[in-house]
Amino acid sequence: MITQLPFDPDEFYSRQMVLPELGRRGQDKLRRSKVAIVGLGGLGSVSALYLALAGVGYLRLVDQDTVELNNLHRQVLYSLDNLRYPKVEAATQRIHQINPNLKVEPIPENVRENNVEEIVKGMDCVVDGLDNMGTRYLINRTCAKHQIPYVFGAAIGIEGNLSVFAPPETPCLECILPGLDDSQLPTCQTRGVLGTTTGIIGTMQAMESVKLLAGIGETLKGKLMVCDFRDMYFTKINIFERPDCPACQGKIAELITDKERLVWLCGRKTANVNPPKPIGMELEEIHNKLKSHFKMLMKSSLVIVFEYDGGVEVSLFKPGRMLIKNVEDEEEALKIYKDIISKLGVEIFS
Ligand SMILES: [Zn+2]
Repeated sequence: MITQLPFDPDEFYSRQMVLPELGRRGQDKLRRSKVAIVGLGGLGSVSALYLALAGVGYLRLVDQDTVELNNLHRQVLYSLDNLRYPKVEAATQRIHQINPNLKVEPIPENVRENNVEEIVKGMDCVVDGLDNMGTRYLINRTCAKHQIPYVFGAAIGIEGNLSVFAPPETPCLECILPGLDDSQLPTCQTRGVLGTTTGIIGTMQAMESVKLLAGIGETLKGKLMVCDFRDMYFTKINIFERPDCPACQGKIAELITDKERLVWLCGRKTANVNPPKPIGMELEEIHNKLKSHFKMLMKSSLVIVFEYDGGVEVSLFKPGRMLIKNVEDEEEALKIYKDIISKLGVEIFS
């Protein structure tokens, strides 16, 4: 018989508390800290893991996606057992296995104009695990408005960047990289990415967060770090405020588009469709209504996954959000969405 030893925080953190730079005071600061990790892919799964190991007391994990086989070479929180599970659910479970003393709040949603305030509210910093600039700009502006430090990171191929934005003390993301169009940028699918690239950048983001929260050393405030791992070129560039930067002036509204209901996931034939209003049904009930129509593949506490016709796989989350995989265009995705909703017998389109 295996007797489980009790979890002793003093022992768990002993090798970092011995650091004069951290000590028990720094450890207490980490325990009282709240961090949101937005996006739990290659960057976010690594930074979430290290922040959990460091003892950050409250982690808010935000991600819309489910675990896929092509994630596993870089997204270290997940294993083969987690395929099709929401990333936030698998991540929460894994973090609790590693450090049971933390509070973890899983939010299985995409970041949008109508939930971004809730996502950053009350946090001591926000860590960027995103894969697109549009959502980064939204996070950047909301963090700027509430004066919450934003630990920016981006990684692709064999290169990456990071910084800590904390206006008005520092410039922000849109002071230095304004107006980038995601459709013109390389993705993990087109450019490719080494797992070690996101591993290093994600770990450095966790490092910057720990330093910020515990008050250690000098962070990358006012600097952009540029890394090219092909020849291990690392440099820091001083960055400056842009006088007409809309983010630093607290503008959020002009970012908002009408595309919020349907979003294509980065580099894939997957559409995320949000309901016009919540469908007001428990997953169990949804599962019972749909199982006579579709082949059910998986059910967890946050999602049900089933096969629609013709190789289309659907992950349905509680409020009625769906990830529809292997679709060609918006019209097809919305047609499937409406068909599934009609089988539930609810009226959410008006
Ligand atoms: Zn700015």
